[in-house]
Amino acid sequence: MAAPFNTIDLSTLGLRAGEGRRLDLELIPEPLALGGETYDFGSEPTPGRLDVSRTSSGHAMRLEMRATLHGRCMRCLTPSEFSVEVESREIDQPGTGDEELSSPYVTEGELDIAAWAHDAIALALPQSLLCREDCAGLCPECGIVLNDLPEEHVHESEPDPRWAKLRELMD
Ligand SMILES: [Zn+2]
Ligand SMILES: [Zn+2]
Repeated sequence: MAAPFNTIDLSTLGLRAGEGRRLDLELIPEPLALGGETYDFGSEPTPGRLDVSRTSSGHAMRLEMRATLHGRCMRCLTPSEFSVEVESREIDQPGTGDEELSSPYVTEGELDIAAWAHDAIALALPQSLLCREDCAGLCPECGIVLNDLPEEHVHESEPDPRWAKLRELMD
C-alpha cells in the first residue's frame, strides 16, 4: 500500500466527466479531543476507501473508513478501544456559485483527505464512548470500577450518631 498522505490532487486522477476511480488509502487522522480526553487512532494507519467520480464541472466523492479509537471510556475511565464505521460524501463543483456544491475540503483541486477523515469520524461517533454498552461506571463513594466485580459492591453506611442518641432516650 502507498504511504499515508494528507492531500490528493484530484486533477492527477485524469478523470473525464462520467468517469470514476476507487482508491484504497491509508489514513492517519488527527487525534480527537472529546470531553477533556484525547482519542487517537493508534500506531497503525486507518484503512480507507475513496471513490471519486468526475461530474460535468467537478467531483463527487465518497469516503468509507473503519477506524479504531483509543482512549478512556467516558463512564468508567478505563482505557478502551472503540471502533467506528464511517461513510461520508462530498460534492465539489467549482464555479457554480452554489455553497452546497462547494466542498470545504477541496481547495484548487486539492482534496484535504486528512481533514475530511477527521471531521467524518467525529460526526460518526456515538454520543458517548463506552467500554461496553452496559458499563456500570464508578462507585460514587470509593471510585472503584463497578464492571466485573466478583461480588455485589455495597458500602455499609455508618449509622447516624443522632439516631443512636435518640434510641437511647427512647429506651
Ligand atoms: Zn466503561
Ligand atoms: Zn465503593
